Amino acid sequence: MFLDTKTNLIFDQKIDQFFDAQSKDVYEESVQKTIHYLLSFLDRDYFCSGDTASDFISKKNLLIPDLNQQLSLDQALAQIKALYLDHTVAFHHPTYVAHLNCPVLIPAIVGDLMATSVNTAVETWDQSTSATLIEQEMIRWICSEMELPETSDGIFTSGGTQSNFMALCLARDAYAYKHFGLNLKKHGWSDVVSKFRFFCSDKSHFSIKKNAALLGLGYDSVITVATDNAMKMKPDALVQAVEKEKQLGNIPIAVIATAGTTDYGSFDPLQTIAKITKEYDIWFHIDGAYGGCYKLTETHRHLLEGTAMADSITIDFHKSMFQPVCSSAFLVRDTKYFKYISYYADYLNPLDHRNDECPDLVEKSLQTTRRFDALKVWFTLKTVGTKTIASFLEKVHYLALDLYHSLKEDPNFEIVHKPELSTLVFRYVKPGTKDDGCYDAINLYIKKTLFQSGQASVASTKLNTKVYLKFTLLNPKSTIDDVLHIIKMIKDTGQNYKVTYE
Ligand SMILES: *Cc1c(COP(=O)(O)O)cnc(C)c1O
Repeated sequence: MFLDTKTNLIFDQKIDQFFDAQSKDVYEESVQKTIHYLLSFLDRDYFCSGDTASDFISKKNLLIPDLNQQLSLDQALAQIKALYLDHTVAFHHPTYVAHLNCPVLIPAIVGDLMATSVNTAVETWDQSTSATLIEQEMIRWICSEMELPETSDGIFTSGGTQSNFMALCLARDAYAYKHFGLNLKKHGWSDVVSKFRFFCSDKSHFSIKKNAALLGLGYDSVITVATDNAMKMKPDALVQAVEKEKQLGNIPIAVIATAGTTDYGSFDPLQTIAKITKEYDIWFHIDGAYGGCYKLTETHRHLLEGTAMADSITIDFHKSMFQPVCSSAFLVRDTKYFKYISYYADYLNPLDHRNDECPDLVEKSLQTTRRFDALKVWFTLKTVGTKTIASFLEKVHYLALDLYHSLKEDPNFEIVHKPELSTLVFRYVKPGTKDDGCYDAINLYIKKTLFQSGQASVASTKLNTKVYLKFTLLNPKSTIDDVLHIIKMIKDTGQNYKVTYE
């Protein structure tokens, strides 16, 4: 079979678009041109253009490519600048304080560019060789920072949600095997599993419930435990909840403690919870997606005492180690627990070829083809180092505290907690008025107005059904003046609301 002349012509035109030895010039030129556009993104002085979905829909000709017309890279870059780079949210901008998105470090971007270009898939040794060892070295580093024992192990994941899924899955299967001799991986569901119960605080991340549902146990299998005024799980409430479930005939199998809750940055009392889990002989998972990296700091190390006793830990480098998405790890106390998810495929990693010296990391992952996300961490540790990262984290923590002290006496603000990490949850109020319904509307109005005008991105959340605003501070270069500038905009907008609506 031969390609016809027309197809051959098309083939020849674009054959220089592959990353290979024949196209080095094209690669270099393409990357340089792209960098030029990325620099224009950095030159923007707003966090986001504030354009709405309908504004973008009016540019439909850009959104939906004409498949019959190919563009040059220059044309495509110009289009994407108009469509994306000029509009999209810039996490490094000092007026972006909404969610857990950090500004990223340049060495981490270098690592990502390299990982993407080489396109290593860390799934089997024969697809990755030394990349496998580098990932394992990064895992060993973080396991040792977390004071996990020699038997511990881990794997890079797509994020905290996937890591928490693995924790719940391994906890479920380990319990089913240990106490009921069940091999859920092989034989599937058993009725007794419907009685399994997970415990986490009422401030824990939604992925716990979502994952319990995906694992077939449902939201009802997750028992939420009350928190104190500092938004930390109450240990006595945990014991009561465990006892109550036992009385109901249910089977407690795991506690998920949060080290750095998403909204409040609060740390559950890990050591006390660890002891409780040991007494009941149940799995102890720590969701450190947000706060895990604070183990590197002097200021917060003590709040992470107890990681040494964890059966598993979630840690997100893309939340608080200044890494581009994705970079996240799931750690487990004993590598043997990975057997609950491992699969040996003849074409990929046959069991009779298994070799500890040249491991196939696919054994430990939910994913098969998987990005080499450990490389950016390697570059970061090698060139920036843990002490500097710790100083960045301490800096954003003190920034949150400064903000807290600045707002504490301000009659226009009601604060619900003292920051333990780098978030602050508060709401705008008008002295003299006590109408929560009205405050909900004002605070949502403030958030929306600031976003749509491109002035600032602030998050909102709910506490006891009331709406609050949230700052998530992750930019070590932001100053107190930067954040007070956003506070000023919030005040002005809040006062405007009165003029417009009352
Ligand atoms: C963000 C977060 C998660 C989810 O992590 P992703 O990386 O977004 O999947 C889980 N737990 C906590 C406490 C979080 O803050």
